[in-house]
Amino acid sequence: MWITTPMINGRLQRKMVRSHTSYKFNCDMPPRAWKANVMEMSSAKSAYFISKQEGQPASSNMASSPKRQTRSNLIKQQALKIKLETDANESVEEKVKVKKARKKVIVSVEENVSKDEPIRPENWETVLKNIQIMRAKKDAPVDLMGAEQCADAESSQEVKRFQVLVSLMLSSQTKDQVTFAAMEKLRKHGLTVENVLNTDEEVIAKLIHPVGFWKKKASYIKKTAAILAEHYYSDIPDTVEELCKLPGVGQKMAVLTVNIGWDKTVGIGVDTHVHRIANRLGWTRRPTKTPENTQKELEDWLPRSLWNEVNVLLVGFGQQHCTPVKPHCGTCLNKDLCPFGKSHVNR
Ligand code: SF4
Repeated sequence: MWITTPMINGRLQRKMVRSHTSYKFNCDMPPRAWKANVMEMSSAKSAYFISKQEGQPASSNMASSPKRQTRSNLIKQQALKIKLETDANESVEEKVKVKKARKKVIVSVEENVSKDEPIRPENWETVLKNIQIMRAKKDAPVDLMGAEQCADAESSQEVKRFQVLVSLMLSSQTKDQVTFAAMEKLRKHGLTVENVLNTDEEVIAKLIHPVGFWKKKASYIKKTAAILAEHYYSDIPDTVEELCKLPGVGQKMAVLTVNIGWDKTVGIGVDTHVHRIANRLGWTRRPTKTPENTQKELEDWLPRSLWNEVNVLLVGFGQQHCTPVKPHCGTCLNKDLCPFGKSHVNR
């Protein structure tokens, strides 16, 4: 236990009151012993010795002329010595305390969270529910013109799958409305693997214009059709790995193609909307730079049963509410739960 400025006699008390903010004395030492200790130090020579021993810079007066050491300086020297010793002891004790506390926290976390149980973002269910409410009308472009809507419902399963793949290839860097219009033209022309093989690349390019990178995408579609005819009996592969080997097919496209085309949940399709919103909501442990990293972060904690739904939900939410520029945070149901919204609304 520590107190400031114990009283020894009138004179010492006055001295110490002036410096009580700087010095502390060990209360464990009985006042008599303390006084005796201070008096013992009244020799300027021994004060100088202590100062050197502690590695403290001795004052020039002290160094050159120990006889001029005053009683108040002696008290200060003694106080400093005691403080240094105690601070050193305190820091060791503190370290032990912190170590013990940390151990306790780790044990309690391990006890409460099973190893299979992922740590999920706070309030994520409420946030998701709010997004579902805001998206209840299902009238975003992705709902009306997304990849699922681009395929011909009357076609065979193989043809539908091929059309889902082509629509996703067209959709990168392109608005849903533009992709949908291009898909309508392609379907009218006949969008099957065989038809594409029999159509010139220039004709395909004209049909899909003005989707982003239309010339390159026309070439990708032609090459893909050739690979599918040669290796997959004019169907599409059912794994992300194999799909990613096709020209112009990336991770997000492959995941969505398997999810939609094969009706298998193999991952979360993360596009620019999902990537942005997940970061704004704090659904990643730390800010992510790429959609691939966001996908991994989300798949770590989001229940698998929601993987398919969350893509369309967040894409539409990003198209209508949580837009890249000027998101509608003021009217968002999550404005008090979303870290980005809280700072954005209060600005
Ligand atoms: S509060 Fe703003 S940033 Fe957060 S989810 Fe809503 S619209 Fe997006």
